[in-house]
Amino acid sequence: MLKVEHIGIAVKELPGAIRIFEKLLNTKCYKTENVETEQVNTAFFQKGTTKIELLESSINDGVIAKFIEKKGEGIHHIAFEVADIEAEMERLKGEGFILLNEIPKPGADNKLVCFLHPKETNGVLIELCMERKECNL
Ligand code: ZN
Repeated sequence: MLKVEHIGIAVKELPGAIRIFEKLLNTKCYKTENVETEQVNTAFFQKGTTKIELLESSINDGVIAKFIEKKGEGIHHIAFEVADIEAEMERLKGEGFILLNEIPKPGADNKLVCFLHPKETNGVLIELCMERKECNL
C-alpha cells in the first residue's frame, strides 16, 4: 500500500455537502461523477496528495442509502492507493482478509478498486485503488 488515496464520506444530499466541503477545505470540487455500477453519485476534492470523496446514493435503496439509514452520514471508507492491485489482493487474501470482489472493478475517478470486508478490519471498510491504465481498461 502506498498511501491514503482518499476518504469516502456518505452524505444524504450531494449539492449541499459539496457547498459545505468547499467552504471547509477552501477549495473547489474538481469532479462529480455518477458510478452506475455502485449506484452512487460522487464528488471529489483534493488537498495535497489526499482526496475526499463524497458519496450520495443515486437510488432509494442503494448501498449508501442503506449505510446512512443504519449509521447516519459520516465516514464510509478509507481508500489506499496500491501499485499492483491484483498482487495486493492476493497478499491480503493470504493474510485472511475477505475481498468483497474477486476481481478488480472499475470505480470512480478512473480507478480499479477492490473492497475488503469490514468484519476483518475492525469495522472499517477498506478500499484498494489503482489508477487505470490504457492496457487494463
Ligand atoms: Zn472510494
